[in-house]
Amino acid sequence: MKFIRRVLPPLLVCCLAVGAYLSQPLFSPDAPQAAEETIPAYSGSPWTEVNSSQPDFDTSQLDGTSFETYSPLDALGRCGAAYACVGRDLMPTEERGAIGQVKPSGWQLAKYDCVDGKYLYNRCHLIGYQLTGENANEQNLITGTRYLNIEGMLPFENQVASYVRETGNHVLYRVTPDFQGTELVARGVWMEALSLEDGGEGVCFSVYAYNVQPGVTIDYATGESHLTEADAAAEEADTTAFTYVLNTRTGKFHDPGCSGAADIKAENRQTYTGSREDLIAQGYSPCGQCQP
Ligand SMILES: [Zn+2]
Repeated sequence: MKFIRRVLPPLLVCCLAVGAYLSQPLFSPDAPQAAEETIPAYSGSPWTEVNSSQPDFDTSQLDGTSFETYSPLDALGRCGAAYACVGRDLMPTEERGAIGQVKPSGWQLAKYDCVDGKYLYNRCHLIGYQLTGENANEQNLITGTRYLNIEGMLPFENQVASYVRETGNHVLYRVTPDFQGTELVARGVWMEALSLEDGGEGVCFSVYAYNVQPGVTIDYATGESHLTEADAAAEEADTTAFTYVLNTRTGKFHDPGCSGAADIKAENRQTYTGSREDLIAQGYSPCGQCQP
């Protein structure tokens, strides 16, 4: 039964896709680019509407049965669009199993007190477990912040799940991760949904959820992260005036207490009060010993 559910629908989709190849594919691989152009930068709301909240599905090839498809990982190990026609028959009847063995692209272990549950990253299902019962499917898991998972995606996922559960109708549902350039962590996900039997009356949305975590700065190229306030503190330290001892011959600057500073010959020695940033701008570099 599992075989029929998992393998046959993709096969059918494949046949349909080949049939429709020259006219219109079932979903466009260019989809994320189309969305990207209209996405404003994150400004405090976990998600934003895309295309006036109208999903961009081609429903002409659908026959109203459930299916689920996932994109193969690309050369950098990144997920592509996950696309499903969600019906009650795809929904799981068992509790979710372990997914810790999957390491999505950009995965890094990071904990912060300002994050609910401490862990910055979740293995974030593109199509939520409650919709298609996919557990440790690497083509359906990305490195996503707790904030993306809970504040961004979950409310939309819940909307689809309760509609399907209550009506027995189907919802076309597509989640496309937005990877920019060669970055390993997605900037966000584009989520689209359309209830089929009632032409979108029950569920109809197109939104972009941001893969951000308030208070944390993420390097999307690698997945590395740090507290945003550390940036501010470092910047402040850089621009605050301190007194340094300069060696005008070597171009090094020292903390006044540094033994290296005491050894500087009088003709090369200069006391300077000002910011570290300005000194560096003047071509000085910090002493490796006292690390001023
Ligand atoms: Zn020094």
